[in-house]
Order: sequence, then C-alpha cells, then structure tokens
Amino acid sequence: MSASTELTKEALGAIAKAHSDSELETIALDYLGRKSGQVTRLLSGIGQLEPKKRAALGQAANEAKRTIEGALAARRAELEGARLADIAETEAIDITFPGAPLGRGHIHVLTQVQRQIETVLENLGYQVELGPEVETEWYNFEALNISAGHPARENWDSFYFTPELLLRAHTSPVQIRAMQRIKEPPIYIITPGRCYRRDAPEATRLPYFSQVEGLAVDRGLTVGDMKGTLLFMIQSLYGKERKVRVRPSYFPFTEPSFEFDVSCGICGGSGCKSCRHKGWLEVGGCGMVHPQVLRNGGIDPEHWNGYAWGFGIERMAMSKHNVDDIRLFYESDLRFLDQF
Ligand SMILES: [Zn+2]
Repeated sequence: MSASTELTKEALGAIAKAHSDSELETIALDYLGRKSGQVTRLLSGIGQLEPKKRAALGQAANEAKRTIEGALAARRAELEGARLADIAETEAIDITFPGAPLGRGHIHVLTQVQRQIETVLENLGYQVELGPEVETEWYNFEALNISAGHPARENWDSFYFTPELLLRAHTSPVQIRAMQRIKEPPIYIITPGRCYRRDAPEATRLPYFSQVEGLAVDRGLTVGDMKGTLLFMIQSLYGKERKVRVRPSYFPFTEPSFEFDVSCGICGGSGCKSCRHKGWLEVGGCGMVHPQVLRNGGIDPEHWNGYAWGFGIERMAMSKHNVDDIRLFYESDLRFLDQF
C-alpha cells in the first residue's frame, strides 16, 4: 500500500469517528494543513524524485487530498443533519397545541358588591345619584344639621383644601343635592361613592372608603318601611335566612336614629368567634330624616317625611366574603383579588 493510500485510509477512519465540527477541523489541519499536514508533507519531498515518479506521487497525493476533503464535507453535512433532527425532536412547536391561557381580569370585588347593592335597590325603584368628592362645608356638614362647633364634627376629622372646601366625609351631601335638584317628592335614591376621613390605615379602617346611602322621601313613611327596605336589601345580598335588627343611636341628620345589624351568617345568630359571640354584625346607620335636613334640601317637612340609611361597601364585602383586613381591597394583590 502506498503512503498516500495509507494516509487516506487513516484519515477516513478518523473522520468517521468525529462527532463535531471542531474535531473535523483538527483532522483537516492534521492531514491537509498548509505547513504540517501529512498529505502536504508527502508532496514536499517530491522535488528530489525522478520526473516519472514525481507525476505518479503528485497524482496520488492530490487524489488523497480530494478524497479526504470529500469525506470531511460529507461528515459535516451528516453532523448538521443530526443536529437539526435533534432540534426538531426536542424543540418542535406543535401549532395545534392550545396556547397558554391569557388572564382576562375581572371587576374588582368592591365594584361587584356595589353593583349588587345598586341592582337590589334599583329593583325597589331607587335611582343611583352621584355627587362631587370635593364638597363645601355647607353640603358636608351644615345642611346635614352638623353646625359649626357641633361635637359631631370631631367625628369627621376631614381633609380640607380651604376653610370652606374639603374632601367629603360621607356621601350624605349627595342626598341634599338630590333633594334640591328633584324638588318634588317622592324621592328614592341611593348614593354610592368614595369618602375620605383622616384615619390611619389599619385592619378595620382606611382614610378613604366607599359608602352607599339610601334616601326615601314620600308621604307617611315609617320606621317599619325603612326596616323592611333594609331587610329586603340584606336578604337579597346575603340570603333569606339573615335577619336585621335596629338599635337606638344618635346622628344629627336623623331623628330617631338607629344602628342596624345583620344576623351572623356563620353561627346563624347563636354567637361565634366571628361575631364576637354577639350573634350580630354591625352594618351601618339609619333613621328618619331630620325635618331640618329636609328643609335644607328644599322639602317641606309639614307635607313630606323620609328615611335614610348608609353603610360602608368595604365592610359589606368583608362580611360577605369573610375578609378580616380592609387594606387587602386596595393593595392590588392579584392573589387576593383573583378569588372573587
Ligand atoms: Zn356568629
């Protein structure tokens, strides 16, 4: 066997065993490299040979070179093919496979509760009435019978812009505005909206919160009408088994005034940890509208009377969904919000 045939055989063996481009690169250098390749070196001594042998050796060496180059190219293609096949196997995209679900989001739990309340009351003939969040002192206090120096004002430690202008502390000013606008009773309205008080954020209170108040002005309304309305609302929102009770209280804008409670949904009224063993949960305040408040709204209390009630939407949502910290509603944590 000639030297070039032997080298070719050796090179082809190495190429067949190679598994990467860099291995093939090393083999190419080893045999065909310009300076020290083995086939190249075979040709370097050619000058000393007889012309006859020169031609034969040159031909053989060139053939060896072509054969090795061909084998290198073939092996490179083979390796590339294997690499692509591997990608196809492991990284294939199946276009028929359903994509990752896209989160669609939904209405915030407080808005859900507010809309439920609105729907229930709208079914009773109440209309939603909105008003400004920046109010005058007169609408926020005076018109509601909370005169300057009245001790109740201390309960509404408010955010003032000027001595006359403030962020409303309750949605009651909307009741006055509604009476002034509608003028002629009967009036049946609810006033959902954001309110502001100077409270430090804690588990049960925030400096901003949402309220819904209701106002009915008609002829000959009674506490019984008011309680029936509250009962209908509570049972529509929480279920038929819930009860409502009213307890005497005091507010400057109603006379008589009451707090109203709903029976605990966990123990059914017999008392448990959740209701602090009272059997009842406090919901809000209510009462018959004070004659002076009707007068301030432009309504004659000699001909008309009314009742009003109000409560916090957050507290409603807390007792509906057993949430024990009001701050959770405003932290925008999707792990919390996604539950509703
Ligand atoms: Zn209970």
